[in-house]
Amino acid sequence: MSASASRPRPLVAGNWKMNGLKAGLAEARAVIARLAEPGFATGADAMICPPATLLAELATLAKGTRLQVGGQDCHTAVSGANTGDISAQMLADAGVTAVIVGHSERRADHAESSALVRKKAEAALAAGLTPIICIGETAGERQAGLTLQVVRRQLEDSLPSASNPANTVVAYEPVWAIGTGQTPTATDVAEVHAAIRETLVKRLGPGASALRLLYGGSVKASNARELMGVANVDGALVGGASLKASDFLGIFAEAYAS
Ligand code: PEP
Repeated sequence: MSASASRPRPLVAGNWKMNGLKAGLAEARAVIARLAEPGFATGADAMICPPATLLAELATLAKGTRLQVGGQDCHTAVSGANTGDISAQMLADAGVTAVIVGHSERRADHAESSALVRKKAEAALAAGLTPIICIGETAGERQAGLTLQVVRRQLEDSLPSASNPANTVVAYEPVWAIGTGQTPTATDVAEVHAAIRETLVKRLGPGASALRLLYGGSVKASNARELMGVANVDGALVGGASLKASDFLGIFAEAYAS
């Protein structure tokens, strides 16, 4: 994943979550075809993180194209007696280059702590994958004025010591904005992303300005230009609007038309 010294190259990553049968790969094919058209959003990278059942097939389809493929989660171990889990090494073996870790749905539904998320991110790095580390406050935490405190703490505790600006991506996803159609204001996003960048610079040094910092939570074509235009927003993590090629591509067309 490349990034210039000044502003990182944006990444728009679609998280299909537990959605998508084999027939759904037609949507990914349409994304691949549009990305191959000369001049289409050439300034941004694209990724789809499908369910595990489609990973290998999508990775094969995407090979040699502009579409990158990511996993949605990984185990901390390389292999072992962990029924139902997938290791980072297995994802890499399937042709994947990145993996989401610490999504709020994993943190909430599977009681994943930041310490566990850090171990998963470490496993991803060890397998040569880019961890996309998700952090974000709940509605209650925002109402209590704890947003910056919560997000800084999650980042500090989730970021591996081996992370650097080129091998790690961070996604700020306010929990209350995921799948709700609600988004923070551009001013609120700017405040949180500035705080995250500051924390990253403290941890990684001034080169942390090159680490890709995504915003996620109800991103769609109609709000993409505004949200992607906010300082320190280097792309998006997209749920619902990534399932249909036309919706996903609309985000690129609005925010990264070239
Ligand atoms: C997500 O779950 O990462 C997400 C951002 O979902 P949505 O875009 O649907 O809010």
